[in-house]
Amino acid sequence: MHIGMHLSIAGGLPTSLARAHSLGCSALQIFVQNPRAWGWRPVPTEEIASFRENRRRYGINVIAAHLSYLPNLAANDEPLYRRSWERLRAELALAQALGLDYLVCHPGHAVDPEEGRQRLISGLHDAVSALPPPPLILLENTAGQKNELGASLTALGEILALCQGSVGLCLDTAHAFAAGYNLRQVKHRRRLGRELAAGPGLAALQLIHLNDSLYPCGSRRDRHWHLGQGHIGRSGLQKFLCEYAAATAAVILETPKKEPADDPRNLALAKDLAASLVRKTPAVRPPKPDPGAGRR
Ligand SMILES: [Zn+2]
Ligand SMILES: [Zn+2]
Repeated sequence: MHIGMHLSIAGGLPTSLARAHSLGCSALQIFVQNPRAWGWRPVPTEEIASFRENRRRYGINVIAAHLSYLPNLAANDEPLYRRSWERLRAELALAQALGLDYLVCHPGHAVDPEEGRQRLISGLHDAVSALPPPPLILLENTAGQKNELGASLTALGEILALCQGSVGLCLDTAHAFAAGYNLRQVKHRRRLGRELAAGPGLAALQLIHLNDSLYPCGSRRDRHWHLGQGHIGRSGLQKFLCEYAAATAAVILETPKKEPADDPRNLALAKDLAASLVRKTPAVRPPKPDPGAGRR
């Protein structure tokens, strides 16, 4: 299983790969631009070449970009809608030049959810036609704050079905928990499994965002927390991984980074959880010694 985390691109895109390597990651997620501004920094071809070179050098197997924060792909407001999709296309083209595997997007929010949903679907259709994968666009499930679309897997499944397999799914544990899927309880994990199978389908699930949640289940508040220290807890995250990690390309952490020790500690816990899954699979018994051996 490839495990990695969202890391900074401060100092240029190629630096993120060195950071991933020094933390022992085999997967990585980055923003390809400043996520809090509309301004666009043109990325020189030498920087793109050095990014690709670093990826080979450090053996980072799975790399996703996360769309910046300002675009709203379901906006009812026409100028914002157009600007949002222009930005998505620019980030998708840059991600393609960098050789990335995925571009993770939130479905967006809309005062008129049905109109927003239609706008999202038509935007996805146009973007994928203009720039076919890779990178594959992944829609991420949300906590369902305010008018946010995509808090339920059933709703995401309906959107993905209209994209005819050209868009995948990223499942964020903190968002699912905040949206009411109590990952600590088997009946809730079964409901999630049923909705996933009937909606997006297990094959659509490409990435897991492994985060604990600062707020309780159903709070609809999106606050990622350190693994094992939030309301999902170590055991809830472990059970979720046990059921879904094998289906995905990578597990990516988006945990808080307040102290220098935070990233290594959260990664160590994720690796520990992954190792416990491996230990759970039945070990192959060594063959019984042949009683006739030695007499020959
Ligand atoms: Zn996200
Ligand atoms: Zn996420």
